Amino acid sequence: MAKQDYYDVLGVPRNASEADLKKAFRRLAMKYHPDRNPDDGEAEAKFKEAKLAHDVLSDPKKRSAYDQFGHAGVEAGAGGFGGGGGASSFSDIFGSDIFGDIFGGRAGGGRRNQRGVDLRYDLTLSLEDAVNGKEVKIRIPVQVDCQFCNGSGAKPGTQAKKCPTCGGVGQVRMQQGFFSIQQTCPDCRGAGTVIDDPCPHCRGRGRIQEEKTLAVKVPAGVDNGDRIRLAGEGDRGEQNGSPGDLYVQIQVQAHPIFTREDNNLYCQVPISFVTAALGGELEVPTLDGKVMLKIPPGTQTSQLFRIRNKGVKPVRGGAIGDLICRAVIEVPINLNERQKELLQEFESSVQEGGSHHNPQSHSWLDGVKKFFEKMGL
Ligand SMILES: [Zn+2]
Ligand SMILES: [Zn+2]
Repeated sequence: MAKQDYYDVLGVPRNASEADLKKAFRRLAMKYHPDRNPDDGEAEAKFKEAKLAHDVLSDPKKRSAYDQFGHAGVEAGAGGFGGGGGASSFSDIFGSDIFGDIFGGRAGGGRRNQRGVDLRYDLTLSLEDAVNGKEVKIRIPVQVDCQFCNGSGAKPGTQAKKCPTCGGVGQVRMQQGFFSIQQTCPDCRGAGTVIDDPCPHCRGRGRIQEEKTLAVKVPAGVDNGDRIRLAGEGDRGEQNGSPGDLYVQIQVQAHPIFTREDNNLYCQVPISFVTAALGGELEVPTLDGKVMLKIPPGTQTSQLFRIRNKGVKPVRGGAIGDLICRAVIEVPINLNERQKELLQEFESSVQEGGSHHNPQSHSWLDGVKKFFEKMGL
């Protein structure tokens, strides 16, 4: 792309003073700054070009290089002057204090078109509801127009009057140096009206807080910390601004039987020591009914049994998790004389049978023996 002459870009003569340059640039910046021309590529290009021209010509060294060699004299690599021209914000040029005054926050509109704030709602679910999904009704606070004053904020029978300071515009103009500054009116804060007799119901705010009921579709598989976004259900914006969003934050209650880890569910299954020794079948709960679990003979405490696909279907897709049961061998209590006799008889028989009946004691005793041998005891 052929580059335009920097003096032409700023519209100044070649002998322009530093003040002339600055003035010319400010005029262009006011016109083409991206903050004032959102999504306008042409304006942005013009702004960048003006900024680059100003950067070069306001620097005496660069200016003299430019005067002698043209664009080649100030290009990166030639003479070591960087091109600049990046997307600098308005505040870089004029200072942030002026920036705030010029635009009153955004595009000179005072409080107009402010997006409402996002809201957060903490939703506590049972594990079953989190796993299976559910439609939940929630009540959230909303700001609505006060029905007593129809949102005007003025006491019924009275009216808000036009702000005398700004004449109802919400903006005041001030001359500062060579350009005039538009500012949000300090008396009505941009509303354009002031209220002498505030409505007692809303205390002059024009809005009151109410509750609204929303149906939230909780998808199956959500977990602690997941968020559901309800677009546009947040606080409503000021003066026709778009509303914020509502984020429903999921919290899952502890379950008496199951704990969840990723997509797997875990539970403890108590097994009588006879069943553990002889093997058998056991009914275990899952989140959708019961299943039979086969216990092999010789099952030990902490042994894990995996029941496929009885875990959680992840909310973001993927394979269903498993239910993992941990065996806990239960020692019988409250034995009567006959039961004690039987157990003693059983114990004698096991002793006669040798150590292979108790695999853990066997290896444990072995370890202890070796430990003492090592210590020379
Ligand atoms: Zn009111
Ligand atoms: Zn005013």
